[in-house]
Amino acid sequence: MKTPLINAGALQNLEHKNGKSSNFPTTNPAPGNFGFQQVFRQHNWDDVKDSIYAKGSVEVEEALHKTKRTLEDFKALISPSALPYLEDMARISRQLTLKRFGKTMQLYIPLYLSNECQNICTYCGFSLDNKVHRITLTEKQLLQEIEVIKSFGYDHVLLVSGEANKTVGMDYFKKVFPIIRAHFSHISMEVQPLDQEEYEALIDLGLNTVLVYQETYHEENYKFHHPKGKKSNFEYRLETPDRLGKAELYKMGLGVLIGLEDWRVDSFFCALHLDYLEKAYWKTKYSISFPRLRPYVGNLEPKVNISDKELVQLICAYRIFNEEIELSISTRESEKFRDNILKLGITSMSAGSKTNPGGYVTDKEALEQFEISDERTPAQIAEMIKRQGYEPIWKDWDKSFNAGVL
Ligand code: SF4
Repeated sequence: MKTPLINAGALQNLEHKNGKSSNFPTTNPAPGNFGFQQVFRQHNWDDVKDSIYAKGSVEVEEALHKTKRTLEDFKALISPSALPYLEDMARISRQLTLKRFGKTMQLYIPLYLSNECQNICTYCGFSLDNKVHRITLTEKQLLQEIEVIKSFGYDHVLLVSGEANKTVGMDYFKKVFPIIRAHFSHISMEVQPLDQEEYEALIDLGLNTVLVYQETYHEENYKFHHPKGKKSNFEYRLETPDRLGKAELYKMGLGVLIGLEDWRVDSFFCALHLDYLEKAYWKTKYSISFPRLRPYVGNLEPKVNISDKELVQLICAYRIFNEEIELSISTRESEKFRDNILKLGITSMSAGSKTNPGGYVTDKEALEQFEISDERTPAQIAEMIKRQGYEPIWKDWDKSFNAGVL
């Protein structure tokens, strides 16, 4: 008998509480709207949901036995009918990941530049309506944070900030990028969506990767969760990956905030988005992240829970659907879960993260964006990765190879 890949004891089985979804608007795109929006408007939320939940074991088995999968196969793989096939899914996902990525695990770490934000988001500690201490790193504080991150061994970094254009807008980014670039060979960013020309200017300064999560593709509930500020513009956010593709960015990351809506339907829309982008901007690389709602100051209860088993199902479904995609898991998840998911499809994980500006050295008490679950140091996580026979990678090499720098 083969050793099971799924450690059932390590996975909690939370009850799946599907909230009833409301009707999804199906208005036609306005003239002049191009890009993903046109594809998106051809799909109705409730129809997608019905079609996912109607998938049966026949469709699941078909999807598992193919060598190339479609979006309909992805629906089958994320459906409740696929849960009994989790062991098979894990085995295929692991094989495909080993074939494409080998026994490597890329590590990454966020550097929070600021917690100032002009938006209200119902799920975030940095939301404007949270009356808390706000800071934006000065050049001196930034250098202190960089020194600590470099001492962990990292050669690439993920910059994060709230959305406050006057203090952490383009002027600030243009000022800090040369400082950061001098210390890291790869810069990723998770900040407010920008215009194409702004992305082009930052790419010239060394920007390599942008993470921009739609949070939820349920337009009506998106408006509920983003009642104030620029982020309330659903369409501007939805079109951001198109602007990044047009700017010829090296890599972009997509995802949804799991817990805001039915994760199966949101994940289908995210896969639809990925499928569209890979065809439209084929030179760009892509990654998917799986953030689950975590406690923070102001606490929003998830509308829909996803169990650990279901999260494994989702990760494996993405891998089986797309062999090339990078799959990422953050320190939002517990030690136990991260240790167990390592060999099942994930290719990158954060380690040693602090989610507050100055969190590594200058202002350890400043407000966190959300609570970390896995609090091990980068060295401890690297050790765990090695114990499992994998090699921790501290630098995103691909860009350097492509540029012929090495
Ligand atoms: S999620 Fe982003 S935009 Fe929303 S409040 Fe938090 S930092 Fe601001």
